Amino acid sequence: MTHSFDPAAARADILTRIAAAAKAAGREAADVALVAVSKQQPWDRVATILETGQTVFGENRVQDAMAAWEGHREGVELRLIGPLQTNKVKEAVAFFDVIETLDREKLAAALAQEMTKQGRTPRLYVQVNTGEEEQKAGVIPTQADAFIKACRETHGLVIEGLMCIPPAEEPPGPHFALLAKIAARNGIAKLSMGMSDDFETAVRFGATSVRVGSALFGPRG
Ligand SMILES: *Cc1c(COP(=O)(O)O)cnc(C)c1O
Repeated sequence: MTHSFDPAAARADILTRIAAAAKAAGREAADVALVAVSKQQPWDRVATILETGQTVFGENRVQDAMAAWEGHREGVELRLIGPLQTNKVKEAVAFFDVIETLDREKLAAALAQEMTKQGRTPRLYVQVNTGEEEQKAGVIPTQADAFIKACRETHGLVIEGLMCIPPAEEPPGPHFALLAKIAARNGIAKLSMGMSDDFETAVRFGATSVRVGSALFGPRG
């Protein structure tokens, strides 16, 4: 027997859980945005979520996102949450509203140059590799302050927020706390943290956006 997954019902449930976690932490539900991570999802599921009034979506690959969202871009905020190669910066600046994976100076320089050239200013998040995992992108915590400073002072970039993906096998709380601490001491207000399995914890630690994929859309193809 197969049960069909109902993304609209899943979204209502997730929004309720975000609101409850916010309230429990003395925060406003409205201060936490749900980013619907639509990567590798069939378009009918994405369309179902769009119909619920969801406007913010996350994608992890530039080319895939452009192919999926061509013709559906109006009224939608698209966030790049996957690694960005410098040879894709031109497309990324033209296409995304938010780029959450700024993590090295070469990329900062390329973004600054392309943003000037195109006259477009996607909002930028610095990705921090809080678990210092070798295979994972992001600046390591001890270099975060210097990197943020270089983004601002050397490259003239406005850093809206920080983003992290904690190690899969560790409790996420300490990683979320670390990201919040780095943000606070650098005067950064936005925190992109929390996914399907841990978004309520992230809200408790101050997430201003949570990136939820499989819990919202069902398993990826
Ligand atoms: C895929 C992905 C998500 C969503 O993961 P789920 O566990 O499906 O919610 C969130 N953030 C990033 C950076 C991702 O690549």
